[in-house]
Amino acid sequence: MKIDTTTVQGGYKPKNGEPRVLPIYQSTTFKYDTAEQLGKLFDLEENGYFYSRLANPTVDCVEQKIAELEGGVACVLTSSGQSASMLSVLNICSSGDHIVSSTTIYGGTYNLFDVTLRRLGIETTFVDADAPVSELERAFKPNTRLVFGETLANPSLKVLDIEKFAKLAHSHGVPLIVDNTFPTPINCRPFEWGADIVTHSTTKYMEGHAQVIGGAIVDSGNFDWAASVKYPELTKPDESYHGLVYTEAFGRAAYAAKIRSQLIRDMGVAMTPNTAYILNLGLETLPLRMARHCDNADKVAEFLSNNDKIAWVNYPGLKYNTYYALAKKYMPNGTCGVISFGVKGGREVAAKFMEYLELAQIVTHVADARTCVLHPASTTHRQLSDEALKESGVLPDLIRLSVGIENPDDIIADLVQALDQI
Ligand SMILES: *Cc1c(COP(=O)(O)O)cnc(C)c1O
Repeated sequence: MKIDTTTVQGGYKPKNGEPRVLPIYQSTTFKYDTAEQLGKLFDLEENGYFYSRLANPTVDCVEQKIAELEGGVACVLTSSGQSASMLSVLNICSSGDHIVSSTTIYGGTYNLFDVTLRRLGIETTFVDADAPVSELERAFKPNTRLVFGETLANPSLKVLDIEKFAKLAHSHGVPLIVDNTFPTPINCRPFEWGADIVTHSTTKYMEGHAQVIGGAIVDSGNFDWAASVKYPELTKPDESYHGLVYTEAFGRAAYAAKIRSQLIRDMGVAMTPNTAYILNLGLETLPLRMARHCDNADKVAEFLSNNDKIAWVNYPGLKYNTYYALAKKYMPNGTCGVISFGVKGGREVAAKFMEYLELAQIVTHVADARTCVLHPASTTHRQLSDEALKESGVLPDLIRLSVGIENPDDIIADLVQALDQI
């Protein structure tokens, strides 16, 4: 099936007489005739549902759909994008281990790595993803366990050279994990370029309507954990399952199986059936929405580029953008609806301009159906001086515009009236 069929038909396959539409299995628990049957499920000897923290039929169907969309062998849905990033690392790293991460990743992920995981004894070396391989090589240590990057970074919109990063990771015997939230599997297929694990904040385009928080981890099944001595948690007995060995019991899906049966069990960051149901509704229209977001963003970026009051525009779909060529390679059908730009006059003028916008509303969100704006210098980054802002790559006049799926003429008209007032 083509990807835009899978978004509609994937995952849920009703049997004779069953509901045509994926039902919400609003039940924490499942009934069995004997304690022995239930015991087999607890020991992972048999497949089945017994408690919705570990598995639920609604969540399961949406996981299967997302695995198919990314071309992976398994997917685990989580309570948020943050918990997806966290588990993707904790699954193969313990205290004393080290990871290499691109600097240009989502701010929440940066904090997770730089502060919280560091406190747990997992050290991160941040690298400039655009640096030559010879320089990137120097970040690796004997205890490096993975490489992390973002296919299209939020908010910098830098495009990761996935092939280069996959080769780099593999030459050091470790997997590449990429956050594919912004382009979604509709616009970017990281496994086809060598990435091993994909994470998502489904909160953004995947659900698409700004209604539920969620995350996903997808396993390509391609990394050979058993061939390495670096991942004893996957290749040696798990005492919490009577000595089960994940690579032996689950083969290519070992990584995903361990996340679910060990980490979600212990840490409890599961997705609820209700959230999975709403996420699934969003997925059904994902290809239509992504195409519209990209078309609209193309038009808005073109408009902003030609306006006298705009200082600069950052959008990888513009020919003069530094990442235009990489975007064309990895995201040939478009990137996503997010554009960042500066208005002439700096921080104060930027804040004023945003107040004059009517259709585009000021919210702490990005990547949903409604056009919205955020001024990091006066919100998420307001404690920083102009100098400190520049160092962190967030210019004082930077406005992040998330172009929605409304009529593009109305979005541009709103920008025009606000620009007229500054
Ligand atoms: C929002 C976001 C996250 C965090 O996801 P939540 O669902 O908000 O926890 C992670 N990565 C990227 C790229 C994001 O945009």
